[in-house]
Amino acid sequence: MLTIDGSEGEGGGQMLRYAAALSLLTGEPFTIRNIRGGRARPGLMRQHVTALEAACAIGRAECSGLTVGTSEITFRPGRVTPGDYHFAVGTAGSTGLVLQTVLVPLLLADAPSRLVIDGGTHTLAAPPFEFIERTLLPVIARMGPQVDIRLERHGFFPRGGGRIIIDITPAPLRPIECLDRGAFRQGTVKAIIAGIDPDIAVRELAAAHKVLADWPEEAFVPQQLSADSGPGNALLIEAGFAHVTEIGSEFARLGLPAERLASNAAKRMAGYLGSDAFAGPHLQDQLLLPFAMAQGGAFTTVRLTEHSRTAAKLITRFTGTGFQVTTHENGSRLVEVKR
Ligand code: ATP
Repeated sequence: MLTIDGSEGEGGGQMLRYAAALSLLTGEPFTIRNIRGGRARPGLMRQHVTALEAACAIGRAECSGLTVGTSEITFRPGRVTPGDYHFAVGTAGSTGLVLQTVLVPLLLADAPSRLVIDGGTHTLAAPPFEFIERTLLPVIARMGPQVDIRLERHGFFPRGGGRIIIDITPAPLRPIECLDRGAFRQGTVKAIIAGIDPDIAVRELAAAHKVLADWPEEAFVPQQLSADSGPGNALLIEAGFAHVTEIGSEFARLGLPAERLASNAAKRMAGYLGSDAFAGPHLQDQLLLPFAMAQGGAFTTVRLTEHSRTAAKLITRFTGTGFQVTTHENGSRLVEVKR
């Protein structure tokens, strides 16, 4: 039984999701205290409860104290059981983060699974649908398992109401090297709006274009959804390379002007474009678990995030597998799995 201090390192919800996944993968139970102790409002939120419920369902696990606000839980894993599952966050909590909790155990299960997940699909501080589809899953496919994901409905904060459907065909994860991202193919900036003033999309695209000045005019496209899937607004910046597609995103929130939202996101993308790394700041932490389970492989990335450092430590505690990080002269990092 491992005891985890949830306020250590990044101190957020990600420790819970990775701990539950690792527990299902290794059979090791854990207790986590001070859940989300690094956050202004600590304890389990609705989306974390759903993520842990999903882990319990697919892993025939038991979890004590599973209610909103709880600051300590004990998780006892059972047998990972692939199949058809439906999970509903019930708020705009992220569908992608529920998937993050159960994905790797189901990639390594002994039969296919279909997941239907209801909640937010384009929400702050979580992977939007397009990132999962085009940034994360193609790397997973190179490792062996096949995962198809479909967006049935968009879900924005605060209403939620989105739905993603995922079909997982498991296979052993093989070690791969993702060192070179290959030649730049094309960039696209999409401003998605639903039930809000279309001028917001125009302003966002213009502000993003100022930063990504050498991308052609036709790369900047508004997408208007029907008003009943809103209100909502997301900006997605996609850079396609021969071997990876990076998607950066920003989401509207009160008090954040459209121009600032867009220029923040575009500047982050410019930072990635100026590096020669394969993985951007979010793909980075999401590759650690599948790479560790493959027991080998390496990828290049931008500077390590606190999310990644925290995830790496947790992975090493559960599995004994470590990561060696080397800084190259040009600033990019090489992350290698060390057994
Ligand atoms: P908390 O509310 O405690 O911050 P949380 O459960 O909402 O926790 P984090 O612990 O911050 O979330 O973890 C967020 C996860 O979502 C990380 O894996 C991170 O890489 C990923 N993520 C966040 N923003 C994006 C984004 N824009 N694109 C892709 N992935 C993202």
